[in-house]
Amino acid sequence: NKAAPVAVEDWSGSFEWDSRADDTRFNIFGISSFRANQREIINAVMSGRDVLVIMAAGGGKSLCYQLPAILRDGVALVVSPLLSLIQDQVMGLTALGIPAYMLTSTTSKEDEKYIYKALDKGEGALTILYVTPEKISKSKRFMSKLEKCHHGGRLSLVAIDEAHCCSQWGHDFRPDYKNLGILKIQFPNIPMIALTATATYKVQTDLMEMLHIPKCVKFVSTVNRPNLFYKVLDKSSVGKVVIDEIADYIRGSCSNNESGIVYCFSRKECEQVAKELRDRGISADYYHADMDVVARGKVHLRWSKNKLQVIVGTVAFGMGINKPDVRFVIHHSLSKSMETYYQESGRAGRDGLPSECILYFRPGDIPRQSSMVFYENCGLQNLYDIVRYCQSNRKCRRSAFFQHFGEAMQDCNGMCDNCAYGTEIKEVDATYHAKIIASLLHDMQSNDQRATMLQLVDRFRAKIKASGASNTPASDLKKEEVEQLIILLILDRVLKEEFQHTAYATNAYVTLGPLWKQALQGKKAVKLEITIGQRGNKGGS
Ligand code: ADP
Repeated sequence: NKAAPVAVEDWSGSFEWDSRADDTRFNIFGISSFRANQREIINAVMSGRDVLVIMAAGGGKSLCYQLPAILRDGVALVVSPLLSLIQDQVMGLTALGIPAYMLTSTTSKEDEKYIYKALDKGEGALTILYVTPEKISKSKRFMSKLEKCHHGGRLSLVAIDEAHCCSQWGHDFRPDYKNLGILKIQFPNIPMIALTATATYKVQTDLMEMLHIPKCVKFVSTVNRPNLFYKVLDKSSVGKVVIDEIADYIRGSCSNNESGIVYCFSRKECEQVAKELRDRGISADYYHADMDVVARGKVHLRWSKNKLQVIVGTVAFGMGINKPDVRFVIHHSLSKSMETYYQESGRAGRDGLPSECILYFRPGDIPRQSSMVFYENCGLQNLYDIVRYCQSNRKCRRSAFFQHFGEAMQDCNGMCDNCAYGTEIKEVDATYHAKIIASLLHDMQSNDQRATMLQLVDRFRAKIKASGASNTPASDLKKEEVEQLIILLILDRVLKEEFQHTAYATNAYVTLGPLWKQALQGKKAVKLEITIGQRGNKGGS
């Protein structure tokens, strides 16, 4: 019966480190003042405390461990998940004249020898050493050298970057991160600093437990990105060609060749959308996991240097994107969770200038995403949270982030579609239709049949037509509106999704959920919000 770790949140450490920290900040990093929480974090690390830092992308997490690494004697160990991130960091630090090295698969024999000597005997200058988590979990040789470094009193601190990767509840779990707990066990007196841009309360607790830092000081900076404008647009409505709309947007709003990202669901879709954008005169290329590392690197580089305006990517276009002037992030389809969406959309506007995050939503995209989520075992509720975000026509989009990450509300300042201009909607009583859907499914399931969402939509419409019930309140629901209703019923637990693996795919079906009887008896009031005209067409930004 272990007590849950409770972090200290009201840290008011001494500021005895201030003058040295200020000198180093200015003289080495050329930074004129600290940003929110940086000073406090640095002081906590310098005082030997374990620290958990939650700070939005672009908030300046690196400085929080790099500066103490310079101030403290010895070698700071930094664990980071991605080679490209590590390379960037080492290059940057080297340019500032700081002895920074990395020990990865790309390290030369010569560098490796230098690093091991420094760890072993304290020979040669080594202030910051970056490694991937595999080094900790898989290299006995490295761990024994590190032990020697510690034994000789030369290990200054341990930093765990992208610490959410520790937790299975996080959006980017990495198995090798699970073994990082060994570090605190082996080096209990060395301060550990764990950093991430996003962690729900559950993920925070989880990673504190896994890293063995139950008494850490926790610094949570807001998840709010005030310069980002969030909006959701309908992907499907009659006569609408989304790709034209995206191309117009890129041409219109971004006439200065401002760069952006378009996220797609699949590799195939990525290539297709990139091609269709090019056909419309936009400089676009794709990026996904089926390409080799060199090809991916080339696309990324061209985009970073503004030789390419738009990257059309899958989730594989992920961590390590440091381009500050990304003006828009468009989701051609839904992300798999609020966290993923927050991260992906958050690649816009790191320079603090106004930028837009646009998500194209249609209920029909949900089954393929839910099959994937089911297959990857990463939580249907996470997906349903982002679906709720998309389906809400009234609530501030920002408030969904605050709620999700357990933070107090802040003013949106009209920086989302719902706060800025809202969407005109009519509310339809769909209790009767929910009843029909429940009875349809009940009949089917009694006959051992099942239906995909599309099949259910068709059956429903056929039934309404056959019954001649043209004067019921919502008998004229369009196809997409029926889809929307089915999704609403899934979110309300009247229905649920079920999945079946085949050799080729995971198929999603819609079946009766825990509250189906209430719906069948007409006791479950169902209100469907139908948008009038198109979303986001009033006003505009
Ligand atoms: P994160 O890791 O939190 O996404 P970084 O550490 O990469 O962010 O920092 C983002 C950018 O902000 C970097 O270019 C960094 O040099 C800069 N930066 C960090 N701290 C400050 C500061 N106090 N003042 C100005 N710029 C800063």
